[in-house]
Amino acid sequence: MCGVIGIFTNDGVFRDLYQGLLAIQHRGQDSAGIITYDGKFHTKKGNGLVLDIFTAENLQRLRGNIGIGQTRYPTIGGGRGEDAQPFQVNSPFGIIMAHNGNVVNYAELKKDLFEKHHRLLNSDNDVEAILNVFAEELARQKAKKLSPHHVYKAVEGVFQTVRGSYSVVAYIAEQGLVAFRDPYGIKPLVYGKRMDGLIPSYAVASESVCLNIMNFGEIQSVEAGQAIFIDQNRKLHAKKIANCPHTPCLFEWVYFARPDSFIDDVNVYDCRVNLGRFLAEEIKKQNLEVDVVVPVPDSARDAAIEIARRLNLRYREALVKNRYIGRTFIMPADEKRKTSVRQKLNPIASELKGKNVLLVDDSIVRGNTSRAIVQMVRECGAKKVYFAAYSPPLRYPCVYGIDMQTKTEFVARDADYEQIAQKIGADKVIYQTLDSLKKAVQLGNSRLTHFCGACFDGIYPTGDITPEILQTIERERIESQDRQLELEI
Ligand code: SF4
Repeated sequence: MCGVIGIFTNDGVFRDLYQGLLAIQHRGQDSAGIITYDGKFHTKKGNGLVLDIFTAENLQRLRGNIGIGQTRYPTIGGGRGEDAQPFQVNSPFGIIMAHNGNVVNYAELKKDLFEKHHRLLNSDNDVEAILNVFAEELARQKAKKLSPHHVYKAVEGVFQTVRGSYSVVAYIAEQGLVAFRDPYGIKPLVYGKRMDGLIPSYAVASESVCLNIMNFGEIQSVEAGQAIFIDQNRKLHAKKIANCPHTPCLFEWVYFARPDSFIDDVNVYDCRVNLGRFLAEEIKKQNLEVDVVVPVPDSARDAAIEIARRLNLRYREALVKNRYIGRTFIMPADEKRKTSVRQKLNPIASELKGKNVLLVDDSIVRGNTSRAIVQMVRECGAKKVYFAAYSPPLRYPCVYGIDMQTKTEFVARDADYEQIAQKIGADKVIYQTLDSLKKAVQLGNSRLTHFCGACFDGIYPTGDITPEILQTIERERIESQDRQLELEI
């Protein structure tokens, strides 16, 4: 999971890009970068948070009215400095690119690009492969000035070659801003317009909240398999190039996206409230005696409030989060995750002592976080601890860009609900059903009929995920985690 942004405006673009990246910081905290253009490219990338990477000096140096930015958390690659996005190639024209997603045939592309086209990929970042395929497709057309047709053809070439999920933003020097979403539209991407004088400015971003805070309006989702080209005259061209079913990632509404964002026209907050409503029905079936509903902050709050309201139960925010520790789920190394839970959450014991507590979280992934929380609540004197997740059990690796790619990591893998409860130390676990999750999203947009829920049901929408690919990705993930640990020791 990463966040991307691209802006073509009238004035210095750096401020907007910086504000935009702050708005999608939650999508990746490993590294961030911005490249702007004013006749030449100006780059600043680094490891860490947006606030720490960019300084007042960058405001002076990153000139131009066009630029792209990215916040990253590593999927392929171990989060080294050279893996920070955006990436750049000098030919043809000079192209910069950033993406959100995961290319599943990255190793094959890297080899082919070197052997067939003498292009050396210098990083472990899969966007470098997309960028070089795109550049190769553009170069092949030998155009001196690009028309939308040239750009569409190059995107079509990417669609034919690059497998996996990818929402991409790019700028081709003196030609225009390009954005496209993979043929299945797995990762989100939106664009919007702002009138700054007579000429419109355009922005593309992972989440609508980015565009809201910069006062961009007329916000629309980039469709699955669609390419957007904003030419040098600031004219917007759009074309749907692939016709696969639009199959967005369900986990965006569960956890990734900000509640104030719209993903494929579905408000994330409304969706989480509906998830609370449906989970309340599941909890009711269990006939549990519950004294207090406690959310695991922050993402579970909206659903937990609705659960308490529907079941007429007391709601208390009895776990207090230290906001400055970072997302445990997003941290690359397992050891780091384990140790950070206790630093991150502190209980209000008086709200838990002697009570039957219903904890509500967005999901249960590896179980380490859930186990530590249950233990903490028990240590406060809770009588019973029930654990409800407003998403279904996670049992299969995500190959499309989420850091849960090794199947052995899932606490729900090969385990029934009773066993899961035992593993995390809870008296009972309650899960959302996959049907209810889909229904909660569809209540916001009935046009959505297909979803990626592969981490729940093992059905990969791209249809090309073989056991060998799963093994390769799993191996890469483990190696990447090992490298990360080595760097940290
Ligand atoms: S496998 Fe899960 S996390 Fe990955 S893209 Fe699909 S729904 Fe999203």
